Parts: sequence; C-alpha cells; structure tokens
Amino acid sequence: MRPSRFHGGLRLAGHKAESTADALRPCPPPPLLRLSLAQHAGRPARARVAVGERVRRGQLLGEADGELSAGVHAPRAGRIEAIRAGELPGFPGLPSIEVWLAVEGDESITLPPLEGLASEPTALRERIRAAGVVGLGGAGFPTAEKLAIGRELLILNGAECEPWIACDDALLREHADEVVLGGRLLARAVGAGRILLAVEDSMTAALDACRRAVAAHGGGAVELAVVPTIYPEGGERQLIQALTGREVPRGGLPRDLGVVVQNVATARAAWRAVVHGEALTERIVTVTGPGVVRPGNYVVPLGTTVAHLVAQAGGYTPDAARLLLGGPMMGLALPHDDVPLGKTHNCVLVQSAADVDAEAREPEMPCIRCGDCAPVCPARLLPQQLLWQVRAGRLDRAVDQGLFDCIECGCCDLACPSHIPLTAYFRHGKGEQRVREAEAERADAARIRHESRQQRLEREAAERAARDAARRDAATSSDAVAAALERARARRGDSGAAP
Ligand code: SF4
Ligand code: SF4
Repeated sequence: MRPSRFHGGLRLAGHKAESTADALRPCPPPPLLRLSLAQHAGRPARARVAVGERVRRGQLLGEADGELSAGVHAPRAGRIEAIRAGELPGFPGLPSIEVWLAVEGDESITLPPLEGLASEPTALRERIRAAGVVGLGGAGFPTAEKLAIGRELLILNGAECEPWIACDDALLREHADEVVLGGRLLARAVGAGRILLAVEDSMTAALDACRRAVAAHGGGAVELAVVPTIYPEGGERQLIQALTGREVPRGGLPRDLGVVVQNVATARAAWRAVVHGEALTERIVTVTGPGVVRPGNYVVPLGTTVAHLVAQAGGYTPDAARLLLGGPMMGLALPHDDVPLGKTHNCVLVQSAADVDAEAREPEMPCIRCGDCAPVCPARLLPQQLLWQVRAGRLDRAVDQGLFDCIECGCCDLACPSHIPLTAYFRHGKGEQRVREAEAERADAARIRHESRQQRLEREAAERAARDAARRDAATSSDAVAAALERARARRGDSGAAP
C-alpha cells in the first residue's frame, strides 16, 4: 500500500546500523534479577510469592490487580531473596515494589498451549492476559485490555520512533514469521478483518524478512505497509494518519476510528503465549551509542540491570558521558546504571561527551514569532501560542489549545531558531495543570463535604425544633385536658375525694 503523510515531523540522521550489524545476542541473566511490580500502565501487580520461596521460570510472581494491570512472571528459576521498596525504573523518586530473585536452577513451567489461530477470541484474550503481555512499544498498556473492544483494523507497528532504537528492526529480521502469525492472533482476538504491518523504508533487511513472512504466513489477511522514515512515524496517532489518511480526533482514541495499534514485539509475545504457553519474561533491548564498546540488540531477561547489560556489550568506552533509557529525543536520562529493565524498556543509549556538547543549548532568546515550530508539530499544535499561554500561567487556555495533545516529541525544539526549550515548557505546563486540577478536585471535595455537613446540621436542628414543638404541644394539650376535668368535677360538686 502507499501510505500518506502525517503532519509535521523531521527527518533525522539514522543510527540503526550501529547496533544491527550482528544477529540478536542473548544476555545471560545476572545473579540477581530485580522485577518491578509496576512494569506496565495501570495498577501495579500484587506480590504472589514470599521471601525464601523457590520459583520456577515462568511462575507468577505478581498477579494483575484488576483489568488495567498485568502479571509479572519469573524470567528464571531461583529463590525469592527480598520483596522491597524500589524506584520506578527510569523515574527516580517514584516508588515501586521490587521482587528480588536470586537466579539458581533451571526448572520452568509453561501454560498449556492453545490451538493457535483456531482458538476462540475470548480464550486468546484470557491467555494474553495470563501471560502478562503488555504493549512493548513503550506504553506498557495491558494488551488484553486493548483487545477487549472490537475494531476493524489492526496496525502492527514496526516503525520505530527514534533514530538509535533498533530492537524492532532486529526482531523483524529474525522473527518476522512469529510477528505475522501473532498479528493474526491479535486480529482474531479483537475481531479485526484487516491487518497492516508497518515497517520503515530504511529497514531493508527487516522489510525483506517481512515480505517473506507475509507471503508464507499472512493467510491473505496481512498487508505490508512501507512507511517513510520520518520522526515520529512510530507514534500511534501519526502512524494511523499515515496509513489511513484519518486523524484521531483531539481528545479521542484510535478506537474512535475502529483501529487498534500493537507493537510488532507485542504480536510475537502474544504468539509465544498462545502457541508455546510462555509468559512474557524477556524482551529485546538495543544497547548502543558511542559510549558502549559493542553495540547490539540483546534478548534480556526482565529485571536485568542496565549495568549488567552494558557489561555484556563490552562495557563503557572512555568517551561515555550520558546514559539514556530510550532514544535521544524522548529518552530519560539516568543518574546511574543500577536500574532494572522492564517490559517497556527498548533501548539503552550511551552518549559521548561530544554528543552532550552538541546538544548543549545555545542561550534561550525571545520568541521572534517566525512560526517555524508549527509546521513540524505532528500533533498540529501551534507551539508558539502554547508557549505564550504556559509562560503567562494561563494553563486553562493552553489546555483549550491542545496542551495535552503534545506528545513531547521535541520537533519544535529542534526547529526553533531562538533555542527555546518548548518541550520542557510544555512538560512543565502539563505537570502544573495536573497539580491545579488535583487541587481543584480536593477543594471541590472539601466544599461538598462542608455543604453536606451544613445541610446535616440544619436538618438536625430543624428536627430538634420540630420535636421540641411537638413536646410543647403535647404538654399544652395535657394541661388543657386536666383543666377541663377539673371544671367538670367542680360543676358536679365533686371534690375528687373518695366517697
Ligand atoms: S513537542 Fe509537542 S508541541 Fe512540540 S512538536 Fe512535539 S507535539 Fe508539537
Ligand atoms: S520557532 Fe521559536 S521563535 Fe519561532 S515562533 Fe516558534 S517559538 Fe517562536
């Protein structure tokens, strides 16, 4: 198919080749795996094991806490060494519970295999849920939940957003057949009659593998869609627009267009869960950049630390200066490498001092209203107007103008000749607005509590007054009866004394 073009975006220098020269490499597990119970969007899993317990590979360590949650399974056999507080990987200061697994032994368990493409949609969704499968493109949304509402079109997203990230490229080169079969499973689970497999035009080896896999396993339902390598093509909304020509409405969701987008690695994980009964316990991670000795794509047991993975890649070069979890545009800077990797972590990028210097910002200058930031915005926003509102603290107006539609891609930063860190302003504005909304909610709740208390006090006072009045009335009427009796006795000459 011929994709159309999404709005905005930038052509950035490609850097996949640095890590895709070799085949996928296995990352042997470290002696201790640290598994966060919050490796996905939604509620953290609840621990199902106790300290000292022996577990097998594939065993449930933490069970999903409701539908918007996902289970966490043991990547290797071993013994639970601790269940303790940790930090959400990549988000210093945000708390998480970690299960520490000392790796020993090789016992494993799997779920009973299902019938693959012949399985019922409900059984497929249940299996995908039981295996702890979540969106592996970075969002970590529980996959079964995303499949719960029927759609017409499934898009398999093999378009990687950022230039250095190559884990999906590496996956498609070697496992395109399982991606295509997994895509057909996902389509069956969500009721989609059409499947588009989106791959960037620069991923030539992956494209060849996909063509072969679609011909062999597509069953006539899978269509390969070659998309231009334009950042951020892999964004869900941008990809939908590029492939269907339709835009997800502001404040809306892909399901409003009858579309569901799943990452290619998620499709493979679903296939492994259904046909092989495997829980999601490992993922492919790109380790790359001039600060690492042997860049490559590694199959990594979840809970492996960044430090251990970088050591597998030959360690740091003398040039290593900055560590990012993710790509150069949207990645999170890590203060250290003692960070366990989870289901949503697709890349460890080690930048050099030269990279850091090149990115050092020129001093911020005033906005000259050139408008260069608008044409590159993939969310069709007007960044200079948003900036104006955020700087002035008029966050309500910024929200009206689409602040929360900003995907923080950084394209406007690169386009701005005044070197204004627009994305940082928008990130700050969103955080500030969330705080204001939370405070407004708290104030509303306090006002409602105060008003209901006042109403209760007034009601109780009214009830008390009514009771007092009734008592007074009753007392008055018994006095009147006694007086009437007295008058009657008096008329009869009855003194009231006993005869
Ligand atoms: S960071 Fe936000 S405003 Fe800037 S280009 Fe990206 S989506 Fe648009
Ligand atoms: S690109 Fe920079 S200087 Fe130009 S309008 Fe946008 S914010 Fe202002």
